[in-house]
Order: sequence, then structure tokens, then C-alpha cells
Amino acid sequence: MNVLVVGGGPGGLFLAVALRRLDPACRVTVRERRPAGTTHGWGIAVATAASDRDDLLRGVGAVDPETAEALRRTSVGWESQVVVAPGGRRVHLGGSGWCTSRQRLIDVLAGRARALGAEVRFDAEVPDAEVTDALAGEHDLVVLADGAGSRFRRARADRFGTTESPGGTRHVWLGTSMPLRDFTYAFERTTAGWIWCYGYRHAADAGTVIVECSAQTWAGLGFDTADAAATTETLSRIFAAHLEGHPLRCRPGEPGRGPWESFTTIRNERWSDGNLVLLGDAAHTAHFSIGSGTTMALADAAALGRALAGRGPDGLPAAVRAYEDERRPAVLALQEAAARSAGWFEAVDRHAQLPPLEFGLSLRLRRSGDAVDAPPALLRGLHRATQWRLGRGLRRAVARRRRGTRRRAPAG
Ligand SMILES: Cc1cc2nc3c(=O)[nH]c(=O)nc-3n(C[C@H](O)[C@H](O)[C@H](O)COP(=O)(O)OP(=O)(O)OC[C@H]3O[C@@H](n4cnc5c(N)ncnc54)[C@H](O)[C@@H]3O)c2cc1C
Repeated sequence: MNVLVVGGGPGGLFLAVALRRLDPACRVTVRERRPAGTTHGWGIAVATAASDRDDLLRGVGAVDPETAEALRRTSVGWESQVVVAPGGRRVHLGGSGWCTSRQRLIDVLAGRARALGAEVRFDAEVPDAEVTDALAGEHDLVVLADGAGSRFRRARADRFGTTESPGGTRHVWLGTSMPLRDFTYAFERTTAGWIWCYGYRHAADAGTVIVECSAQTWAGLGFDTADAAATTETLSRIFAAHLEGHPLRCRPGEPGRGPWESFTTIRNERWSDGNLVLLGDAAHTAHFSIGSGTTMALADAAALGRALAGRGPDGLPAAVRAYEDERRPAVLALQEAAARSAGWFEAVDRHAQLPPLEFGLSLRLRRSGDAVDAPPALLRGLHRATQWRLGRGLRRAVARRRRGTRRRAPAG
């Protein structure tokens, strides 16, 4: 089997790892438009609970134990979530999770793909849809792993049954030298409305901060015309109390566009069209506030790799069907949780009226919506208990124990 992967993000690269690992007879080329060593974004959460981390390592490790080990080695954990509620009170949300630098993850995956015999070409854009048509003729399979804005999916939107639903907020993805020990949410009121950020460390001495606000607040604060430097200057001022003097860093946007973006939820009725197959963000997106897009892309890659292993070109239709059947239910569940989470942030004006503890509880439960199966009084009582110093200490100790021996990850 001769496979071309368009896009060298986490999904495309891990597919190359999976294909070479599970079927060494398979020829794989990954073409990524960015130069090597560059990416968008900073840190990513790869698990928001200890059990998620175990699932992720198990899933990745079943395909390639070396990748799982590298992921474990290059990730750092957080031991608690804290929200600085409207009015400034710190509310503790509990939980533990795990992050890594996006660039480091890509370096690990590209290294593993090459070590296993895949050809990985950076600075190698696939220029337009006609070229993909030609490439589809030259390859048994072309995997479109070219992200949420996939040009090739858009050119065939009717064939894939694509819907793109833009969200109501604007966001910017920033880096900071502040190693945020807790996963921290902070909400600030400005003259143009509420603006909030969430930050976490992704290395021992580096963190990531995502800032989000409504489109009205974004325009009202002048971000619609701000470049990267003006954006970080204004945001450093707004969030100064949470940054302890550490600067924010911002990558420039695409040429002709500022650094701010609007999140779009992608859905596709069909994930394949002949020998073109969608994978990762090109197939589906879920709002970043639930931190799951990368792990979904990795799980897609594992499933497609397994489905294709050992089948020749004749087995392609069955393999592609098996891949979609396996992945679609899990993806839909996460997209629903993400929609509830995004909706919560879009209604911050309303939640900001709540007392701080209730605000924190509401933020904590935002993914579940009405699905939380416990009496509200019990939830409130448990939430109050997590604010106790002793409770927090115990929780940190449990989180540390569950994570086992932690190693410090290098900055990146
Ligand atoms: C603000 C923000 C925060 C996020 N935080 C998290 C998080 O904490 N945890 C998490 O799990 N997920 C997070 N995500 C989601 C995550 O970034 C994506 O879900 C993930 O990157 C999807 O991987 P992918 O490989 O499918 O696509 P991408 O990572 O988008 O990779 C696609 C690649 O294709 C390349 N490409 C595009 N067109 C072409 C072409 N024509 N030729 C060649 N190459 C091309 C692009 O350059 C890109 O490298 C976040 C997203 C955002 C926006």
C-alpha cells in the first residue's frame, strides 16, 4: 500500500508511525507545509484526569511503545485547577492533568515516523485541490490530515457533507515563561466586557495561556486591528495580576491576519470519498476548552492504522468503514461535551452574576450540562470541601501518587 498523508500535525504524523509500525510493507509519505521546527500554538493538555492519561498512554503504546514512553517523558502534570472568579476570589476546582509542548510532541512523532521508515517532508505544501486529485491517482490512499481549515475537504464539502459552525468568541494562543503550577482560569472585567484566560505549564519552566472573549469585547478593546505586539501588550496589562511579571509571547498570525482566531466546529457526514480519507481536525473539531483535539487526532490515527494493517488496496473500502465506525461515536460524544463547554464560556456575562463558589462549580461542571447525576446540594457540599486547605493538600498528594514518579520535562 502506498499512502500519502497531507499535513504533519499530530494526527498525520502519528498515522505515519502507526502505518509503518503495524504494516512495515506500507510506503508512507507525510507532506507538511511548515518548515521543520515551527508550529502554531504552545502547550496542549493531553489528559484532564489521571484515567485519561492512562487511556492515552495505553492507546498510543498499543501502536508504538516508544512513542508512548517519549510522550510520558516529555509531559508535565498539574495538580489542581484554580479559578480566579469575577471579583477576584480564588476558587479551587480540584482535578489533575497532564500537558506537553505541541512542538515537542511534533518533534517526537516526526522522529519516530522517520525511524520507522516513513518519509516526512517539511516545507512541502500540497498546493491545491487539482494536485490532490492527481496525487489520489498516484497513491492507493491519500489521508487529509491538514487541519480544521482543510482546503481539500472544503473543495469537496458536498462529497464529505461538511458543516462548519463558527463560535461566538475570539481567542489567541500565547506562550509565557511563567510555569503555572495549577491549571488556572482568570476572569477580568474590562470597559468592553468580560475577558478570560486559562493557563497551564507545559514544561518545568514554560506555560501556555489562551485568552478568549466575545466578538464584541474583542472589537471594543481594539483587538480587531491589533498585531501580535499590541495584543500581548494589552493582554499583559489586563492579566498582570495573574502573570507575576512574566511576559506573554505571541506568534504572528497568517500573513494579512492578526493573531486572533475564531473557533469553528467541523462536522462531516462522511469521513471518506473514494481513496481520500479525513483524519483529526480535518474530520471533526471540538472546542479547545475541553482540551481533546490532539488526543482525538491521535486516536483517529491509531484506529485508521489498525484498520489498514495487513490489507492491500482491495481491502481499503472495508478498512475505511471500520475506522469511521470505530471513531465516530467517541468523537460525537466529545463534540457534544465541547459544545456545552463552549456554550458556558459564551454565557460568561450571565455566570458572572453568581457568587464565586457557585461560579467555580458551574465552570467545573460545564462539560456535563444536565447530565450530572447528583443532587445539587451534594455537589455544592463536595465543592465547598475542596476549598479546605487540608482537602487540597490531600488531593495534591493523591494526584502525585497517581502520576507516579514525575520527571521534569525540558523547556520547549
Ligand atoms: C487555542 C487552542 C488550544 C488547544 N488546546 C488543546 C489542548 O490543550 N489539548 C488538545 O488535545 N487539543 C488542543 N487543541 C486542538 C488541537 O490543536 C488540534 O485538535 C490538533 O492539532 C489536531 O491535530 P491534526 O493533526 O488533526 O491537525 P493540525 O494540528 O491542525 O495539523 C494540520 C497540519 O496540516 C498542515 N497543512 C495544512 N494544509 C496543508 C497543505 N496544503 N499541505 C501540507 N500541509 C498542510 C498544517 O500546517 C498543520 O501542520 C487546541 C486548539 C486551539 C485552537
